[in-house]
Amino acid sequence: MEEVVGECTLCRKHVFCENGFLNGYILDGLLLCLSCYKSTKQRETL
Ligand SMILES: [Zn+2]
Repeated sequence: MEEVVGECTLCRKHVFCENGFLNGYILDGLLLCLSCYKSTKQRETL
């Protein structure tokens, strides 16, 4: 079951909740899709 939680703050892609798992992340109250979350993390580590 897929449920739209909201849109990604950065790329406006829809973020889904699949079977209770959020297909994205909430970072400081902002909703991010997986790819934007990864690029954010990469920027922090580099
Ligand atoms: Zn995104």
